[in-house]
Amino acid sequence: MTLMDEARKGIITPTIRKVAENEHIDPDTVRKYVAEGLVTIPQNIKGKSRSMGIGKCMSVKINANVGTSRDFVDVDDEIEKAITAVKYGADTIMDLSTGGDLDSIRRRIMDAVDVPFGTVPLYQAASSKETVVDMSSDDMFDAVRKHAESGVDFVTIHAGVNQNALQRLRKGNRIMDVVSRGGSFTIAWMLHNNEENPFYAEFDYLIEIAKEYDLTLSLGDGMRPGCVHDASDNAKFMEFITLGELVKQAREAGVQTFVEGPGHVTADEVQLSVTSMKQLCHGAPLYLLGPLVTDIAPGYDHITGAIGGTIAGMCGADFLCMTTPAEHLALPTCEDIKEGAIVTKIAAHAADLTREGQRERARATDMEMAMARKSLDWEKQFDIAIDKEKPRKTRESRKTGSDACSMCGELCALKIVQKALEEDKQL
Ligand code: SF4
Repeated sequence: MTLMDEARKGIITPTIRKVAENEHIDPDTVRKYVAEGLVTIPQNIKGKSRSMGIGKCMSVKINANVGTSRDFVDVDDEIEKAITAVKYGADTIMDLSTGGDLDSIRRRIMDAVDVPFGTVPLYQAASSKETVVDMSSDDMFDAVRKHAESGVDFVTIHAGVNQNALQRLRKGNRIMDVVSRGGSFTIAWMLHNNEENPFYAEFDYLIEIAKEYDLTLSLGDGMRPGCVHDASDNAKFMEFITLGELVKQAREAGVQTFVEGPGHVTADEVQLSVTSMKQLCHGAPLYLLGPLVTDIAPGYDHITGAIGGTIAGMCGADFLCMTTPAEHLALPTCEDIKEGAIVTKIAAHAADLTREGQRERARATDMEMAMARKSLDWEKQFDIAIDKEKPRKTRESRKTGSDACSMCGELCALKIVQKALEEDKQL
């Protein structure tokens, strides 16, 4: 039985109980949401036991992508990036490696971290061939099985990139066509072989594999927009209609899913994107790449992504894939990953402050910070801060004799008003 099957039978498993404890939510509510597919707890039966819930009433989670490319194969570096990402707040890690010995790289990164682990098996299927169009459909499914067998908790599958979506793409007026790596492999394969996407055509078979391992399917958005101009077009929405149908199919089989979403979207279109995706995909947990709210900030796309991520989280997105300052430019360094994780964590918390089920808990943390600021309790402030290192370093580097900070020193507004209020009370 999968976790979803058990939840449907009314069983509160230890995993569900642990998630409820972490999220401060009643265990039966979590069970009910898992049964309905509104909360996903990625956990392969072959993997480590990790209890992390994504979805309705859960805190917003963040993912960090690591992995080699064909040009840079330094596994130790990728392991360090994964450890760094978790240290600075990543709730999950995805290995997107395409260069080197992919089986060994996956295992080594997975062993190094203790959070749910995701991959894109299509990358391995494609990497084993000279060109992506040479893959057979067996290669694609074999890669999924191989990853499931190795203990991966969730896999991105671009099953929504089908002939329908492709037709919309052809008829549309996109500037950047397709920017999803998995989406591009799939489209190139479909066009070259003149066939339907095997992951769509044989989705039943995919479900069989997923069910065997209780593998979560992350239904990828191969049509995600690569610039704000391309944001809300027919190709994207066609894909979401398909993904909604696939969510239903997976749920019927007791297989957990979440749905991936765009991409580049202007701030005023984020709400439309999120609410329509939620509607079309029957409330499935939503995993967003960004959204980046402008195209003109290379070097700062962790910030454009965090702005979009906050708005998306407020509107119902559940899981944010972090962007780093290296986005669109290069393979990120460890320092890029650290910055990306912290900034995305800030976006997730900002969304939690407004989110059903998490609002009170998140606000209590901000209240603690406000109290620590009011009493100029610096240690407490550093302890509560999302980044616990930078604030201390900044204060230490410009410290004066005053118990206030060097911004206003003895003209500290907090001290002045506190003193004035106390004197007034004594009159
Ligand atoms: S000195 Fe100014 S900036 Fe610093 S804590 Fe006081 S009021 Fe805030």
